[in-house]
Amino acid sequence: MLDIKKVRKDFEILTQKINNKPLVYFDNGATMQKPKPVLDIMNEFYSQKNANVHRGVHYLSNVCTNACENARQIVADFINAQTSQEIIFTSGTTDAINLTAQTFCQKFIRKDDEILVSQMEHHSNFVPWQQLALRYGAKFEVFDITDNGELDIEDFTKKLNSKTKIVAVSHVSNALGTINPIKQIIKQAHSINIPVLIDGAQAVQHFKVDVQDLDVDFYAFSGHKLYGPTGTGVLYGKNKWLEQLPPYRFGGEMVSKVFNSHTEFNTLPFKFEAGTPDYIGQIGLGEAIQYVRNIGFEDIEQHEKELIDYFTEKLSQFEDIFIYGNVQQKAGVVSFNVKNQHPFDIGVLLDKMGIAVRTGNHCAQPLLDRLGIQGTVRVSFAMYNTKDEIDYVIDSLWKILQMLK
Ligand code: PMP
Repeated sequence: MLDIKKVRKDFEILTQKINNKPLVYFDNGATMQKPKPVLDIMNEFYSQKNANVHRGVHYLSNVCTNACENARQIVADFINAQTSQEIIFTSGTTDAINLTAQTFCQKFIRKDDEILVSQMEHHSNFVPWQQLALRYGAKFEVFDITDNGELDIEDFTKKLNSKTKIVAVSHVSNALGTINPIKQIIKQAHSINIPVLIDGAQAVQHFKVDVQDLDVDFYAFSGHKLYGPTGTGVLYGKNKWLEQLPPYRFGGEMVSKVFNSHTEFNTLPFKFEAGTPDYIGQIGLGEAIQYVRNIGFEDIEQHEKELIDYFTEKLSQFEDIFIYGNVQQKAGVVSFNVKNQHPFDIGVLLDKMGIAVRTGNHCAQPLLDRLGIQGTVRVSFAMYNTKDEIDYVIDSLWKILQMLK
């Protein structure tokens, strides 16, 4: 069992009042709060141990280099990568997907090839592929979802064909919380030798991800949604793919030898990490992962599932509230609308009561167009949220609905 009281002590930010009410932070899908050990270690490195990595012969540079490469190993172990060379540090999921899309398309996409994504993608796993398809004269194909917000596997099967060069799908929908059957999708794509990128931005913080078990080719996620610092993220890529892809950005660190006439590039993972990395951020991310691992996904998953079930059950008692993506396999997110009310208004009124939720299209306009709506109110959970907070939100919603009558 998760010791919530103990956990919450590590998140000082949660103890404050907003609009004179105790803060209820239910916007974890956008970013999560950071536990004290993460803040402490970053403070320690900035105040006592800072020096640029990978270049220095001096003591502090080696301390930072070792800590940052140790963080890479922590990430590799966390998602069960075969080696830490398959872990590329990025500035976030968006950066990781752009890295893959730019380099993969440059190397492998030709006119009339096809790129296949789903209708429920976040813009950052949609727009890069769409734009690169335009650049290379390829076809950008989108497979459908069902009305209740699950991937339409029949449509996926129909659209996956020998012209498809890559498939890009989210592990968990940021707008609906649906957990997608990515293992099945990867297996199907591999049966005709097509690689798959999975956007794991809303998955790694909620349950154990094993990239070898999934047999996934590329897996992207953000540090700041995993109790880690902003400006950090990860691209996992299978060695065989990363070796084949050209560099993404040019500059220091990503080279091994530079001549007037040409450049020889560094080995993995540094080939993809031009310039000074956010090494203290990466050390913070390593600490965040250790924090999650120490608590354990078994407890986190069970607790968050209880929160989703409890909130869904309470919301279902409102006649005028509609939940989107009311499916069995869900993580982290509950998305809803109040009949005849704009989600923005609900968000503003909840804020007056100290409750932070997200409203709008959640950077998933193609998904919301498909559902025929402009936005939703999204409540998203982290391990530190409680049933008491849910009770307070439900109570506040009753009051808001009375007020709007
Ligand atoms: N994909 C999904 C599913 C997301 O939820 C997000 C963040 N909202 C992103 C990608 C983009 O992540 P970031 O902004 O950290 O790059």
